[in-house]
Amino acid sequence: MSRVNTVLGPIPAEELGFVAIHEHIGYGMPGSELDSTWWKTPQERYDETVPKLREFRELGGQTFVDATGICNGRDVDYYRSLSAKTGVHIVACTGFVGGDTALPFFATASVEYLAQQFEHEIAVGIGGAGAKAGVIKVGVSRGGRMTDLDKRIYRAAARAALATGAPVLTHLAIDAENAIAIFEEEGLPLDRVLFGHVDDGVNFDKTRDTWIAEQGGRIGFDTFGYETELLDPPFWARPRQDRLDHFLRFIGHTAERGFLDQALASADANCSPLGWPGVKGHTVNYLFHQLLPDLRAAGVDEATIERIFVTNPAEFLTLSV
Ligand SMILES: [Zn+2]
Repeated sequence: MSRVNTVLGPIPAEELGFVAIHEHIGYGMPGSELDSTWWKTPQERYDETVPKLREFRELGGQTFVDATGICNGRDVDYYRSLSAKTGVHIVACTGFVGGDTALPFFATASVEYLAQQFEHEIAVGIGGAGAKAGVIKVGVSRGGRMTDLDKRIYRAAARAALATGAPVLTHLAIDAENAIAIFEEEGLPLDRVLFGHVDDGVNFDKTRDTWIAEQGGRIGFDTFGYETELLDPPFWARPRQDRLDHFLRFIGHTAERGFLDQALASADANCSPLGWPGVKGHTVNYLFHQLLPDLRAAGVDEATIERIFVTNPAEFLTLSV
């Protein structure tokens, strides 16, 4: 039977339904729990998160992949209570957003140590909670080139993916030649990797999305909604139509050759940001309020929408061993 690890236990991939493949319950830098400006009580975080997940469920969302990983505010006990309360399946990550968001403790960690850590969180569980990770997060540190620690994390992720069957999800798809070389050296098929953030305003013109797709990788247009049209747009914002046109070309709707079967989409929103104000007016529900209407208005049919939000995520998230 196909199986996906959620924080409340494994479920068949057929039960995932509509998936938001790259989101955050709450993301913050290490130490944000000590922040005195933006710190919130657990009750405040709960109160601003539950309505967003409830609305997601009411609009037809069924599975929320939390791409937060180790050191950035991940809290699986909390996720378990949110999932039980709202009926949304939550998939948690092991791994790191990037080498630059890992605590100094991990700075000299070996590939073997990191792989063991990731495997433990997938096969045994995270901390004492018993919740198992369903995805391995890796990423490129600020600067646009993989650091030595980034490379060790990618290599460890490949080994843990092969040992456990869990997929790998990347923060940024720049410097993809190095990433792909590591995955190939380790023997990890590239359809087990989702190369994320190909669409953000800072990196889209430096990201070789069609080349990565030609190599077999899956591609994440997962910063939908971070638009220059927002009242207070973040530095990674991009004009709404520009991102939409990019996506329509990639899936082959407005281009001769497309990669629909490798395309995934999400909003990378925070339900309740930790230690920073977050981006006002942006939630996971952008997918229902704006993106689906935009796709339909552009003539994208329901079968294609199901491919992007149901079938492709189910294939990707299914544990392959
Ligand atoms: Zn993210």
